[in-house]
Amino acid sequence: MNISRTLRTPAELIDAGMISPELQQDIERVAALYAVAVSPAMAALIDPNDPADPIARQFVPTGAELSTRPDERTDPIGDLAHSPVEGIVHRYPDRVLLKAVHICPVYCRFCFRREMVGPQGLGTLSPDAMDAAFAYIAEHREIWEVILTGGDPLVLSPRRLEEIMRRLAAIEHVKIVRFHTRVPVVEPDHVDEALIAALKSSGRTTYVALHANHPRELTEQARRACARLVDAGIVMISQSVLLRGVNDDADVLADLMRAFVETRIKPYYLHHPDLAPGTSHFRLSIAEGQALVTALRGRISGLCQPTYILDIPGGYGKAEIGARSIRQTSDGCYAVADFRGAEHAYPPGDE
Ligand code: SF4
Repeated sequence: MNISRTLRTPAELIDAGMISPELQQDIERVAALYAVAVSPAMAALIDPNDPADPIARQFVPTGAELSTRPDERTDPIGDLAHSPVEGIVHRYPDRVLLKAVHICPVYCRFCFRREMVGPQGLGTLSPDAMDAAFAYIAEHREIWEVILTGGDPLVLSPRRLEEIMRRLAAIEHVKIVRFHTRVPVVEPDHVDEALIAALKSSGRTTYVALHANHPRELTEQARRACARLVDAGIVMISQSVLLRGVNDDADVLADLMRAFVETRIKPYYLHHPDLAPGTSHFRLSIAEGQALVTALRGRISGLCQPTYILDIPGGYGKAEIGARSIRQTSDGCYAVADFRGAEHAYPPGDE
């Protein structure tokens, strides 16, 4: 589909053939609650004749989002409980999130911060709030890493990014700056020389964590955008969300992880979907997720293995929830499973 600008309203999605006109009323109700944006690069990947298209499922709103469950909650990963000043989340001792902006180039229908992002969300930090955020980081000498997330920090202009990098570089104890973004996939042309120069301007080690969920997102243009970042000396890692109807299939996950590695992106996190409101149609059980990551073990190179992660609701941080491959047996030995699932004895070792 050849669309030249980002689609942001139900009417534009109907005109593009992505939703049928009789659904307009429901979709208007969804759009009043949660932001909508489908970038041209993602629209180009969507097959409007496929009702199960995995790209459309991630970005095109549906009436299912109007249905909420009692166990769903706003702020499912508990950002607000760990926010000492506006824009900062300090959950773990040695790192903070810096949420400078709550705008994204696309809006994912399963977003864990869906009530914070978008035009009606928390917006961009004011200059005073930015000053307070940098002051907090400077005062806390244990902060080794700053993670820019949001929102998508790469929607900021190179001038704003350069200023952020300059201010972080002035704080001696900050050694690593990490950006969480979808931009190289959803707006690959945005990754240009000016953006890369801004990311590199501090001299600090810079990581870019790319969020992508389906191998079709790693188009030639997306791969070239990532190559520009990696060639410039930026380290790339991946993060994906396990989503029903998008990537809840071992072959699809294997292709996605291989696509990352081929693009010089080390697979990092595979997130179990969070309990965000109106997203139950995306969630699979943890047992299903564990079966999928176990299937990956037997199928693809160690380089391609992500860590399966659950953000514990309420802000208690991340827990690894991949299936265990070792268990203690009644004789004090261990039974360790190989990649086919067959168990083998391992001695207990000296106490
Ligand atoms: S890019 Fe990230 S923050 Fe933005 S809508 Fe998607 S999941 Fe949410």
